[in-house]
Amino acid sequence: MPRTHAALPRLYVDHDLAGGTQLTLGKDQSLYLAAVLRKQVGDEVVLFNGRDGAWLCRLVSDSKKSVGLDIVERIAAQTPRSELWYGFAPLKTERLDYVIQKAVEMGAGTIQPVLTKFTQVSRLKHEKLVANATEAAEQCEVLTVPVVEQEMTLERLIDSWPADRKLVLADEGEAASSPIEALTALRGQKVGILIGPEGGFSDEERAKLRALPYVVPISLGPRILRADTAAVAALAVIQATIGDWR
Ligand code: SAH
Repeated sequence: MPRTHAALPRLYVDHDLAGGTQLTLGKDQSLYLAAVLRKQVGDEVVLFNGRDGAWLCRLVSDSKKSVGLDIVERIAAQTPRSELWYGFAPLKTERLDYVIQKAVEMGAGTIQPVLTKFTQVSRLKHEKLVANATEAAEQCEVLTVPVVEQEMTLERLIDSWPADRKLVLADEGEAASSPIEALTALRGQKVGILIGPEGGFSDEERAKLRALPYVVPISLGPRILRADTAAVAALAVIQATIGDWR
């Protein structure tokens, strides 16, 4: 994304985006642009839809109920959704919003809540998680909104794990060591990362996971990290060694 458009508001829409066409925003986004940001006719915004790249658009009407936009020019070509899979045991409320936001910023393409024995929550408001992911995507200028899956149990995850993907397990029981070597060995392969709940994985869960051929346990250092810290640390070390930070 050229930095020249960095200051413009970015909105995710589910419309097709093509030059020379127009679109009218829904109530919420119109209110946000016209009332909150006080955008007026002639002002510019960037829209993306996860399929057609990012487009520079110009307001042709600025009613708080329905802002009209000219779709002017494509400023970033569409990129494929990230292959990085992020599995985590959901945390309570605001920390749950936090880990969703961090997973998007750190480049996850799929966000999978996993219910483990010590997971604190069992019912999730899926549409709220999707809204969080969408807002994070707008802010951090990704071109696709990561897919937030419905929660599933660890057993179901193991039963349905695809044969072509490695599962990096953030294992707090692993002897403190650098994960760089273990991760570098995965270069070029599809990977997922799994972070446990505040109470950690149960002994049975850890033993079961570590026995699986596609699981690669890693340490995230000598200290016990909070689950949301572990999420960012694990995603960072993966992106920096074998991910899209290069
Ligand atoms: N069982 C510990 C904390 C679990 S922390 C306790 O109850 O105090 C939550 C999750 O973060 C863990 O399940 C693990 O996935 C990850 N994590 C935290 N510290 C880690 C470390 N030093 N190495 C690897 N993973 C870690």
